[in-house]
Amino acid sequence: MSLDLDARQRAMLAEMGVRVWLPEPVPATPERSAAVPETIADKHDLTMGNGVKGQESTPRDRQPGAGEAVVTRAPVAPGTARAPQPAGIDGMDWTALRDTVAGCQACGLCQGRTQTVFGVGDTAAEWMVVGEAPGEQEDLQGEPFVGPSGQLLDNMLKAIGLSRLADAGGEGANGGSALRGVYIANVVKCRPPGNRNPHPDEVAKCDPYLARQVALVRPKIILAMGRFAVQSLLQTTEPIGKLRGQVHRYHGVPVIVTYHPAYLLRNLPEKAKAWADLCLAMDVAERGG
Ligand code: URA
Repeated sequence: MSLDLDARQRAMLAEMGVRVWLPEPVPATPERSAAVPETIADKHDLTMGNGVKGQESTPRDRQPGAGEAVVTRAPVAPGTARAPQPAGIDGMDWTALRDTVAGCQACGLCQGRTQTVFGVGDTAAEWMVVGEAPGEQEDLQGEPFVGPSGQLLDNMLKAIGLSRLADAGGEGANGGSALRGVYIANVVKCRPPGNRNPHPDEVAKCDPYLARQVALVRPKIILAMGRFAVQSLLQTTEPIGKLRGQVHRYHGVPVIVTYHPAYLLRNLPEKAKAWADLCLAMDVAERGG
């Protein structure tokens, strides 16, 4: 996917609050460095609408949320070690996996849920987005990212030519638009009460479900949005700010770390960094990892 922006992408970025200025066409570079960190962002002068700057660590959906560089890993938080696999999960197809998640009682979150929030989108997508946990609306509707942060996520994805409604051929429920599919799932499949942060043991219990979703989708790239997605996928407690701009790996799949949309909604200037993260992810996906 080219990093030059067409009119639609510019319009979507404007909607995200990102103004893009390209001083001159970026020459095609036959080989891009694996360590692209901020260099892509440097090609684009990204300035943002004004917003109130907040903290990276804020509560979820009222809260936020994280790239083959070797990353120094901080030890994982107690309780976040990989949980034992539910029996037979490695052989499960989508139906079996969905049913297993729907009946899961591995942690206390099952008691407060309206329903599990499994995942949405193109199950053969090249891109997978991993968020944190369902909020109130997600719990009610059974779909990830349907609240305000979901709207921002959809706009961000549209800016790079992706839609949760599109299928693998790009001719999906979007009216035959050129948008390509994406699969979206959360680390935690049940809503934590009062939108509190998920506990490490709850994240760990849900880990195998996400791992199987990734194995079934076989994405070219994973975008990890927010602290808990990053902690679960990368088994690290390093802050997102330290992990951005590098290509991490989850079971061999490249992972790009970025901020959670809910965090971006409260910290509008950080959208420029999120755009740089998307550019890095596009670059890595285009290179094939
Ligand atoms: N935040 C997430 O991380 N996931 C959702 O589904 C909704 C909000």
